[in-house]
Amino acid sequence: MTEFGFIEQIRTRFAALPDNGFEGIGDDCAVMPLGGGESLVFTADLLTEGVHFLRTATTARELGRKSLAVNLSDVASMGARPVATLLSIALPADAADAWAAEFMEGYRELSEAFGTALVGGDTTRSQSGITINVTAIGRAPSAHLKRRSDAHPGDVIFAAGELGASGAGLRDILAGRCDTPLAAIHRNPQPQVAEGLWFGTRPEVHAMMDLSDGLASDLRHILDRSGVGAEVDVECIPVAPGADVRTAACAGEDYKLLLTAAPDDAERLAAEFEARFRSPLHPLGRITAASGLVWLRNGKPEPLDWHGFEHY
Ligand code: ADP
Ligand code: MG
Repeated sequence: MTEFGFIEQIRTRFAALPDNGFEGIGDDCAVMPLGGGESLVFTADLLTEGVHFLRTATTARELGRKSLAVNLSDVASMGARPVATLLSIALPADAADAWAAEFMEGYRELSEAFGTALVGGDTTRSQSGITINVTAIGRAPSAHLKRRSDAHPGDVIFAAGELGASGAGLRDILAGRCDTPLAAIHRNPQPQVAEGLWFGTRPEVHAMMDLSDGLASDLRHILDRSGVGAEVDVECIPVAPGADVRTAACAGEDYKLLLTAAPDDAERLAAEFEARFRSPLHPLGRITAASGLVWLRNGKPEPLDWHGFEHY
């Protein structure tokens, strides 16, 4: 079974249970309105040795930062401010105390940088391999929340950064080249927290998510949840230096924001983003009423069998 098939099965199995006021499975975070126009958002991400990282190819400090960063990215992608985290960690006997201390120092550094409190978690021995689970909690005015389900036909699709560097870095790491600049990018994702908060304040931004599994997969989540389709101009995909367009479209872990915006306001949004963040907002294509994801080259459909990451 695929990762998404499994999640769909969970959703069906639990559909009849009470939601207790939560917007549940399906977005980057679960949403809980607090009353008074504010909401909390919740997300959890798991990193497991051999699947998400190789202990020999990353420092403990980098891993401490990354395990928090990927969760902050999910909170930011809702337009929310990360406020607190819970950290659960399973450590095998061969992970030394020094490794754990260095991991926690990385986690602390990034917590300090983004002003998040560590408010709980769990610690246990593991029979084999390191497993890390972080739960992050964010807060936002409810009107600022951005969901995957709000893309409208005609919207312009944007990526808030270049894509493919992390995937190209992973390729380097798997080839035994851990000291390249791209490998460093792969190990040190930078969550777009300030950017996500800013998009949250912009009503012309309709749908938003973070790119963790690759554009080809993640955009399909917006399309499915919104009941729309999309045309993406392959020439417009912003390919990071050192990557190629297929990697940019299919490899994961870039942790850039993917969003859709009302067409009349899209140009102004992009200009203001660039002025504020000193980095371009890249238009990729548009949302269509007809379902399906169509890749266009020179304005003509091209049948590309492009898919993103699956972790299961
Ligand atoms: P993301 O890439 O943003 O972390 P995923 O694609 O991993 O999101 O997950 C999609 C949705 O499925 C999310 O809403 C997530 O909370 C939910 N989900 C994933 N795994 C589980 C699980 N084991 N139990 C309940 N919900 C899950
Ligand atoms: Mg996400």
